[in-house]
Amino acid sequence: MPTAIRSTDLTLDEVARLAGRYGVPVEDALLIALNIHGIASEVNRHRARVRVRLAEEPAVPWMVIVPLNASRSPFKLAGEELLLGEHVVGVVRKIDADEAVGGYFRDGGRAATLNPNARSRCVGCAFCPNTLEAAADPRLSEEQELSDLLTAMVEQHPRRDLSELREVTVSTGCFEREEAAVEHLVGLRSVLAGWDITARIGFLTSVVRSDAAFARLAEAVAPFVLRLTAECFTRRDLLLKASKARVGFSEMPSLLQRARQAGLGTSFTYIVGLDPLDDLRTGVTALAEHVTEFPNFQVYQAHNSIMEGLRVPTRQPLEFCLQARREIEDILAPSGTRPATWECYRPLWYFTFAGERLVAA
Ligand code: SF4
Repeated sequence: MPTAIRSTDLTLDEVARLAGRYGVPVEDALLIALNIHGIASEVNRHRARVRVRLAEEPAVPWMVIVPLNASRSPFKLAGEELLLGEHVVGVVRKIDADEAVGGYFRDGGRAATLNPNARSRCVGCAFCPNTLEAAADPRLSEEQELSDLLTAMVEQHPRRDLSELREVTVSTGCFEREEAAVEHLVGLRSVLAGWDITARIGFLTSVVRSDAAFARLAEAVAPFVLRLTAECFTRRDLLLKASKARVGFSEMPSLLQRARQAGLGTSFTYIVGLDPLDDLRTGVTALAEHVTEFPNFQVYQAHNSIMEGLRVPTRQPLEFCLQARREIEDILAPSGTRPATWECYRPLWYFTFAGERLVAA
């Protein structure tokens, strides 16, 4: 097992050296490191939504969700200044609690994420910070309740106009049965139609697996993208709740292939930092040919020493993430799909992907 470097030893010089070695902007490496380590500050929050502008790219704000009480992190907050060692690397302007709420907007109001099934009460994945969050997300089963949620969300929309929505993602790990999940989605489509919302519905799931379910979604819910919650390819019994672990790695490619053949969009979620690189490469390669969207890759965040113990043994977590980023770029760049910078709060990509600029200069 490699000897781990203490996280507090990470310096700006080391970040720059690794960024150069793996051909990524220093700013991307900084944001990945920030997601790995969190921030040490006086604010006693396990998780918070933080708006950061980096010193070298101040025109582009990034929303990250990190612990603010990570006392061993090399990143420190002094007033509004984000420090790495002695260097001011950015400014933090806004801090909100990361509560599980019923819904929120992204992509400037063109995308919404709904938590309609009490995600905060879902437990079982060893890496999940749910139990650390305050909860304000409801369990909505009736169409009227879903409609009430949209009514409440109109007030938060930048232009008070939900017809702008292009993507509605249902984020919940809490449907244990396929039938319940599918009928919930059919109900959601009906509610959205009542609001003149034609957005594609995306669903994060590991319980929707049968051809019959795919056919029903294609008929009554499409446009629809199935986002398989793969999360990791090894130690699945140890790391995942039973309903997720039940989907073995060997089943995943054909599951996505069948969903795609049924006319659905396909993608998957994956946490970078739990599998060795060889398994990551094998797994992503096997799934890549069956996805229509760029998958959701998240940097692994450990919120306590037990979670830190789940991290794949590595000398330097930042270097591991940069190696993983390069591997994934090699696999996915030819597909033409690219990460959307608004889609994921803990991504491996910020300003560039495989040398291509992702945000306007
Ligand atoms: S399925 Fe797992 S990761 Fe998702 S909310 Fe439930 S416990 Fe957390």
